Amino acid sequence: KPKGRLSAIEYINGVLKGDRVLLSRAITIIESNLESDKALAKEIIQAILPHSGNSIRIGITGVPGVGKSTFIEAFGKHLVKEGHRVAILSIDPSSQRSKGSILGDKTRMEELANLEEAYIRPSASGDTLGGVANKTGETMLLCEAAGYDVVLIETVGVGQSETAVHGMTDFFLLLMLAGAGDELQGIKKGIMEMADMVVINKADGDNIRMSEMARLQYQNALHIFPQSESGWAPVVSTASAIKNIGISNVWDEIQKFKKLVDENGYFLKNRNHQQIQWMYNNINEELKNLFYGSKAIAKHLKVLEQEIISAKISPVKAAQIVLDEFKKTL
Ligand code: GDP
Repeated sequence: KPKGRLSAIEYINGVLKGDRVLLSRAITIIESNLESDKALAKEIIQAILPHSGNSIRIGITGVPGVGKSTFIEAFGKHLVKEGHRVAILSIDPSSQRSKGSILGDKTRMEELANLEEAYIRPSASGDTLGGVANKTGETMLLCEAAGYDVVLIETVGVGQSETAVHGMTDFFLLLMLAGAGDELQGIKKGIMEMADMVVINKADGDNIRMSEMARLQYQNALHIFPQSESGWAPVVSTASAIKNIGISNVWDEIQKFKKLVDENGYFLKNRNHQQIQWMYNNINEELKNLFYGSKAIAKHLKVLEQEIISAKISPVKAAQIVLDEFKKTL
């Protein structure tokens, strides 16, 4: 084993005891791309799996500047006051390019970070969203096994990362601002549709009236969407993360949601569905990598592209030819 590495059992026991140092080190193993660490990571995950799952998983999104970190700081502190242990993770596949992941900045959530009952982990890095999502998903399992009973997963309101966060959480929270148009906020319709709750943040000072108007507007807009399978009707509220107004209300709504979906069976059904989907996402990604990663296939595809352009072959036939060729290599 590489220098400085502990044995699997040491990581496992450390995580199960809630030892933060060992939890952090175990997460580093999960995030590692070294082959030797990958085997160790599998062993750790396998062992802690029966101890995971005992949390409410909350996804939080919204464009940069909407107040996500300010909100999470206030919300996290509220949860700790209520006796919870909170883990805060993020999915940010862009972090490598933009330098500094969304949770990487140490000055963010300073007070929350200092609480013994809160654990903040910056986004894993990686090339593909699938890879980053795997790491965040397994980090979430580790945090649950370490005794965190609320997991917040943050993402920025751009790209496909919301779908990934939605696919691994029980409750999806969208932060928005009054006054800015939806387009300006980079919020696509699909994201609105995923939301179990929309919070209009910065409802303070001169902004209160506009925020209230926005709340009514979004409440009406949400009525247009078909009823969600969860049986939950999405709610819209206003809040001021900076003034700590409307924060406890968000938690109240989440508890109402939890009660409903526990009773109607959706909670477990959705969790099971997500687990299965997680497997298929990995299969799909790996299959694509196998196919497009093959040099022979890439070369053949270039030739076929030309033949399609010169009308020598139909696109459907071209696809069939190259897939047949791929099947022969299996
Ligand atoms: P993020 O990029 O979504 O994480 O947003 P931040 O939490 O960093 O907040 C962006 C800016 O908005 C900061 O200057 C915050 O102080 C400010 N802000 C956040 N929440 C509120 C709020 O409730 N009211 C007001 N007036 N400003 C806020």
